[in-house]
Amino acid sequence: NGTDKKPPSPSPLRFSKFFQSNMRILVTGGAGFIGSHLVDKLMENEKNEVIVVDNYFTGTKDNLKKWIGHPRFELIRHDVTETLLVEVDRIYHLACPASPIFYKYNPVKTIKTNVIGTLNMLGLAKRVGARILLTSTSEVYGDPLEHPQNESYWGNVNPIGVRSCYDEGKRVAETLMFDYHRQHGIEIRIARIFNTYGPRMNIDDGRVVSNFIAQAIRNEPLTVQLPGTQTRSFCYVSDMVDGLIRLMEGENTGPINIGNPGEFTMLELAEAVKELINPEVKISMVENTPDDPRQRKPDITKAKELLGWEPKVKLRDGLPLMEEDFRQRLGSPSKN
Ligand code: NAD
Ligand code: UDP
Ligand code: UDP
Repeated sequence: NGTDKKPPSPSPLRFSKFFQSNMRILVTGGAGFIGSHLVDKLMENEKNEVIVVDNYFTGTKDNLKKWIGHPRFELIRHDVTETLLVEVDRIYHLACPASPIFYKYNPVKTIKTNVIGTLNMLGLAKRVGARILLTSTSEVYGDPLEHPQNESYWGNVNPIGVRSCYDEGKRVAETLMFDYHRQHGIEIRIARIFNTYGPRMNIDDGRVVSNFIAQAIRNEPLTVQLPGTQTRSFCYVSDMVDGLIRLMEGENTGPINIGNPGEFTMLELAEAVKELINPEVKISMVENTPDDPRQRKPDITKAKELLGWEPKVKLRDGLPLMEEDFRQRLGSPSKN
């Protein structure tokens, strides 16, 4: 008779759906600029529990203040170069200083964060069976000899320069991700992030968008580093977060470029900030730093095809959104 039959065990599909609807998510570097916006988005889904680990090197609790004390949220002071024991389904691994002045400040620590930190997060992913996403960078393309950059380009990186702790560190992190994937079957996702901007950027982190906006508000000259014809492509942070979540929940390992293909010279960026924020401000040409990439623009064909993603916010719309946040933090009266 059929009455003592065991109920069928859940199919792999139903099993994965169960986890997709109730997820515990670790965000390393979640007190930073991109990380805290990602946390905001993940917390919107009531089925998600979010754990942030951060050593507050460049991030701050302030970025997460609206979640502290929330029952689905946990904040842990921890350095990813040390072993971490938590039980999670997803790991967004962002911990790493991103701005040149911060990653060059202690280059050995930057390498440790990228290499040992990523190794630890992969060891954690292996132990608990979590899927892990690494926020790599367009810097893996170095001073690129192909333009725009697509994911099959291997890059032109100086292995011994002052930026190498970051560029080569992220390259090793990508290698580790693929080796854990091939050797241990870990589910990996790699995003190659291009320059991102928006509210909560560190005001004094030396990056070009934060520098120009702070300078325009303080009515100090916009410091365009020579020659001023070098280019970058700037993605607004809400678009970035959307791309990262799609990548994590999609089927593709990557690497996938996530960035806005709108390309600007630094002089054009300065002109846009001047026009939108302070038409009186001066522009001054200053010395550059070594190994500055001359051009950078993502080819986002893969993100469009595989993730159905493309950025929505244009630079001219994003800059004013960031201005308001900077005015508040600089104690400068709002324009409106
Ligand atoms: P951020 O500096 O604001 O955030 C990084 C966070 O990591 C900070 O909160 C910092 O305190 C934390 N952190 C650093 N070292 C750590 C360690 N050893 N242990 C624990 N926490 C540590 O930078 P961001 O702009 O938000 O960048 C986030 C990620 O995105 C980084 O991995 C960065 O390399 C990558 N990325 C950013 C950009 C960009 O334009 N912002 C571009 C390419 C890649
Ligand atoms: N690791 C961790 N949390 C875990 C599991 C591992 O931080 O839950 C670290 C561990 O300290 C180790 C690294 O991840 O240094 C790599 O772990 P793995 O198991 O792959 O390698 P092994 O421990 O065998 O060297
Ligand atoms: N830059 C600039 N003025 C500044 C800061 C940066 O002209 O005050 C230039 C810098 O030379 C580089 C570009 O802006 O060509 C982007 O620099 P950033 O440090 O923001 O990012 P990354 O070099 O990592 O892309």
